[in-house]
Amino acid sequence: MDFELSEEMRMLSDMTYKFAVKEIEPISHEADEGEKYTPEIRKKAAENGLVGAWIPEEYGGAGVGFLGNAIITEQLSRVDLGIGLNVIAATFGCENLLYYGTEEQKKKYLPPVCAGESVCAGAYTEPNAGTDVAGYKTRAVEDGNDYVITGNKMFITNGTVCDWMVVQAITDPQEKVHKSFSQFIVPADAPGIVRTKIKGKLGIRASDTAEIALDGVRVPKTNLVGKRGAGFYQLMHFFDTTRVFVAAQGVGLAQACLDESVKYCKERTAFGMPLGAYQLSMKKLAEMWIQIEALRNMTYKGALSLDSKKPDYHISAMAKFFAGQTAVFCANAAVELHGGYGYIDEYKVQKWYRDAKILELYEGTKEAEIMTLGRVLMSK
Ligand SMILES: Cc1cc2nc3c(=O)[nH]c(=O)nc-3n(C[C@H](O)[C@H](O)[C@H](O)COP(=O)(O)OP(=O)(O)OC[C@H]3O[C@@H](n4cnc5c(N)ncnc54)[C@H](O)[C@@H]3O)c2cc1C
Repeated sequence: MDFELSEEMRMLSDMTYKFAVKEIEPISHEADEGEKYTPEIRKKAAENGLVGAWIPEEYGGAGVGFLGNAIITEQLSRVDLGIGLNVIAATFGCENLLYYGTEEQKKKYLPPVCAGESVCAGAYTEPNAGTDVAGYKTRAVEDGNDYVITGNKMFITNGTVCDWMVVQAITDPQEKVHKSFSQFIVPADAPGIVRTKIKGKLGIRASDTAEIALDGVRVPKTNLVGKRGAGFYQLMHFFDTTRVFVAAQGVGLAQACLDESVKYCKERTAFGMPLGAYQLSMKKLAEMWIQIEALRNMTYKGALSLDSKKPDYHISAMAKFFAGQTAVFCANAAVELHGGYGYIDEYKVQKWYRDAKILELYEGTKEAEIMTLGRVLMSK
């Protein structure tokens, strides 16, 4: 067992953080305030091999594996969770293709995404079903050489900026629900698609989120991803992977909260002493540190398990759950330690407090993770 990162991973971490500080930090406030998606950052990140870095080199990625991508995610999220997501989630949905797509699909769709020229979206959630992934109603009906897709998707990251998306739809309603779904590659500009940006998010405001209506959208049969009827299981496999990246977002954001708070507690004085000299402040800082250390270990372990081809999906679910909890805890403590200054937008912790909450909501709410883990325990 070795808890040390390799030299290569340490260099990747340093390089990514420097990139984020140089390129992302200066526009962070403006992008948040104006809810601006940041394609220029995504393109620069791609030039540095940071987009789709988990994708094997033969399909255009940097081939640094899931651990490498988790480290990239962590370092970008230390600076800005929303803009970091624009970089990391440019490939959101590509997991489906890499695991289940045909060689032709992988060669056609993955390299342009890694090059920063194209953006993917994973369109699964619907207005009336999020946690209940078996409750989606979007239909794909076979018609000659095509499938015709009709339904509504909700809260789709990259929704209005993507070039294509992976859509979850029912193809076989006569089957048991878990065998009724399939996945499709759908070009974002296909006739019948209407994409509407969702504005006014609490946090990650630089990330694009949209509602997508599909009305009789025609795609060729060759756009089916994986096996017809296997979409539910393919989606579960997808989440098992992406949860590690959400966990890494939590590590980065929580670390930023701790770093900023330590700095502030050394500078700010009260009753003639720095805040950090008081045990109540130290307790907050120490508890942040403990949780971050535990979360980072869990996240890297989950990522390494994916790289070693012995995936531990329970660890992914634990890390995802703990990431939300840790990020929210650390952001809250950071605001408290900053006092009134933590409540105004001149101080970064205010934004991190708003951003943190999403980690308890998307890609499985914290309750969904608990249900998953609880079911595992009860089935033993
Ligand atoms: C900014 C943002 C980006 C997103 N990006 C994407 C994306 O790219 N692609 C995509 O497909 N989706 C995306 N989502 C959707 C996200 O994954 C869902 O919002 C999430 O899964 C929760 O679903 P829901 O909103 O329908 O809530 P619901 O499922 O309605 O849940 C509401 C509450 O009830 C709880 N709950 C539900 N079922 C149970 C139960 N059985 N027992 C106890 N409690 C329960 C939940 O935990 C939650 O607290 C995004 C969401 C946001 C906000």
